[in-house]
Amino acid sequence: MILSRLRSTAPKKVVNGCFFVVFLILTALTWREALILKDAYEVDQRDRLNTLSNSVERQGQRSIDELHFYRNMLQHSLEQPVLSNYALQEIAQFQRVRHQPVWRLSHSAQRSMPISGVSDAWLQTHPLLGRGDQLRLEDELSATMDMSAILQLQDSSRNYHSRLWYLSRAGFYLSSTPPLNDAHAFESYSKMIARPYFTGMSPSYNPQRKLAWSDLYQSLFNDEKVITVSLPVDDNGHWYGVLAMDFRVERIRSFLLQARPKGMTGNVLFYNGHMQRIAMTDETSDPARELSAEEEKKLAAEVAGGQQGTLRLGTRFVTWTQNQHFGSVMVNIQTLREGARGDAGRASVVLALIWLMFSVALVFSHQLIIRLISRMLTLQNSLSWRANYDNLTRLLSRGAFFDRAEHLAKQAQTSQRPFSVIQLDLDRFKSVNDLYGHQTGDRVLTQAARAIQSAIRSQDVVGRIGGEEFCIVLPDTGLKEAVNVAERVRRKLASQHVLTDGNQQLTVTVSLGVSSSDEQGKYPFESLQSVADGRLYLAKTTGRNRVCAEG
Ligand code: GH3
Ligand code: MG
Ligand code: MG
Repeated sequence: MILSRLRSTAPKKVVNGCFFVVFLILTALTWREALILKDAYEVDQRDRLNTLSNSVERQGQRSIDELHFYRNMLQHSLEQPVLSNYALQEIAQFQRVRHQPVWRLSHSAQRSMPISGVSDAWLQTHPLLGRGDQLRLEDELSATMDMSAILQLQDSSRNYHSRLWYLSRAGFYLSSTPPLNDAHAFESYSKMIARPYFTGMSPSYNPQRKLAWSDLYQSLFNDEKVITVSLPVDDNGHWYGVLAMDFRVERIRSFLLQARPKGMTGNVLFYNGHMQRIAMTDETSDPARELSAEEEKKLAAEVAGGQQGTLRLGTRFVTWTQNQHFGSVMVNIQTLREGARGDAGRASVVLALIWLMFSVALVFSHQLIIRLISRMLTLQNSLSWRANYDNLTRLLSRGAFFDRAEHLAKQAQTSQRPFSVIQLDLDRFKSVNDLYGHQTGDRVLTQAARAIQSAIRSQDVVGRIGGEEFCIVLPDTGLKEAVNVAERVRRKLASQHVLTDGNQQLTVTVSLGVSSSDEQGKYPFESLQSVADGRLYLAKTTGRNRVCAEG
């Protein structure tokens, strides 16, 4: 039973194992392809962001170069002042108006931008400001006028920055966008000297005299959000003032949009060095397209440890890169949907579908093969049953019974335990057939087999060895005990009735011959069966319906 069950489950296990291995290989191959696609996607994302970052950097560098150009120019003018007639006139004009609350030098409005200033008195209240030495002041005014002449040539519509100006500690300023009136000029100067881009340029705050970027703030001039880059102007150890430039958020945003490489999707965010968001390409209210405060913290930690990298925030893929010169950070947030629409995304979807199709096909074929195996095993079981069992009585057939009996006899011989054999033959069975027909005869045989089976013990084995002849082997049983079993079988049969086709009750008896190894002194099944058969013959000749265990 156990063996047959093992036989029936083993092929299924093998098939299950094979399919599982195929599934694993399929999944591993798909996974490998997916990793390649993922790498390709990441490289692609990084490349595109780098391209954009480089464009922004180039553009920014152009503005910064311009700032440096003006500083060099101012320093050059301060070191080698050329006081032209025009400059002398303007300085004379300055001397006349310097005490006024607001003044303006725009002698030659066609050839330069105006220089606007505040009074001597007003300056005295500010520690960072002062007119100082007269000669130095004149040189500075002259240098500012030189700058003014160049500044007017600027085409501001082509600039990345929106405004460039020189803010002097000596109470005046020059800007690419001149003030509208005196009130505006005064307000501008007083506001600008209070801004961090000016105060932060004092030698004590900025001992290395470096360029610095401001945080985002609301500009006074166009009411727009801007960031400012400022550069101190020093000469011969004296701090003259600050050169600065504004970058409008809107301008940065439109530049990002315009410089975005073809096929680059996702929201591009532009952060300054303090991880303050300056601009983003898609002004949406979708939180998935921005970074939460928590996520910005996470990004800041990553940025502190490298030049560029990637982050996975839920289903979003984030690429970031640091801008070398400006300390800014460019971030691209791509949602899962955007990622799926890209080349790698589409390929991943196709890959997933292929995996799914193969997996479904695998499951179907697995089910099919398992069903085929089940059918085959059922067939095999039924064939093997037919080979070993008698179809009518469902007892062991002659051949299978003899094999089993011989095996048990050998076992008994090896262990020297008693072993008995009972040979049975139904009495006058021929007449049952003759009187009631073959069908009734068959029913008698079936019932007799069931009666024998129920009368013997679990360790005993019975088989149908001829038409109405049966044999029982009884391991571990001596002659006396075997006779008891035989007697039980005889009584059982004699007491039961079989219904004939004609609804008559019929009783069939049996004659039995018993032999045992303990009384014969030998074990071979054939010889014990032959003795039992002889005793069966004796039972027949001495009246039938009896057990004979001697002679
Ligand atoms: P006894 O053994 O008591 O001397 O008399 P008997 O009538 O039983 O004698 P015998 O052994 O010669 O008869 C056996 C009969 O069993 C012969 C045959 O018709 C019948 N028989 C054998 N196999 C089958 C079977 O499968 N089905 C039916 N219905 N009859 C069978
Ligand atoms: Mg017979
Ligand atoms: Mg008979």
